[in-house]
Amino acid sequence: MADKRKFVSGIVAPEVRSEPAWWFVFQENKLLVYQKPESVTVPFLMDPNEGDLTVIRQNYLGHLDNHQCYVAEVSEGTVPPAGMAFEGLRQIYGRLDEDLFWVAARAVQIIDWDRTHQFCGRCGVPLRTKTGERAKECPQCGLLHFPRLAPAIIVLVERGNQLLLARSRHFMPEMYSVLAGFVEPGESLEEAVVREVKEEVGIAIKDIKYFGSQPWPFPHSLMIGFTATYAGGEISLDDNEIEDAGWFTVEKLPRIPGKISIARKLIDGFLAKQERFHED
Ligand SMILES: [Zn+2]
Repeated sequence: MADKRKFVSGIVAPEVRSEPAWWFVFQENKLLVYQKPESVTVPFLMDPNEGDLTVIRQNYLGHLDNHQCYVAEVSEGTVPPAGMAFEGLRQIYGRLDEDLFWVAARAVQIIDWDRTHQFCGRCGVPLRTKTGERAKECPQCGLLHFPRLAPAIIVLVERGNQLLLARSRHFMPEMYSVLAGFVEPGESLEEAVVREVKEEVGIAIKDIKYFGSQPWPFPHSLMIGFTATYAGGEISLDDNEIEDAGWFTVEKLPRIPGKISIARKLIDGFLAKQERFHED
């Protein structure tokens, strides 16, 4: 994508704000957006306190091309200004410019961390922001608190012209996806992939290959994608989490996740490979 704008992360805000900036203003995890008929956009302002908004905390994020980006939080009862609304990030994907969307995905994680890390977890005193780092420091015991990030693996398992898809109890009706799960402390990514597939559907896999990764701000994951090949065993379900699982061909796919997700990119990658195979 040649026209993709470049976001550069930053910790220290410019001393003087001489130009308008992108303001990612959240109420809890919902973003303040201007509503247009077909799309939404983020406020581009000198100061979000203009108008009726009262910011209770804010952080500098960096810049997108030449424009500074900030995240701010407003209190629970704040009524959105005329023509604007607070919306969840999942709801605005595809309607907000994609570059701004991924800055919003960072922003929501930074403001959530700021909100939930006000006091030291060890001694309970108020934390202070550490200069020049995305961290907070305890003035009493020196413990550092960094933004939380939970790595999760996601894996597409293939067997010939079929792929493995499963349905979690939490999914929307009829939807199936590839398997995913959080990495446990002490585990490598590859070990997590093998364990998750074994635990959830009872099969063995081989040829684990890195596919790509994606931030997943719901609320603070990093999805690390892999492909793998079936190596043995019969599907048997973990009855806590998985409701149904099976092998699917391109011709008979169930409902699959939307374009926002790396799950969909993995599935689209498999479909493209099958098409090439048919053309040969
Ligand atoms: Zn402390």
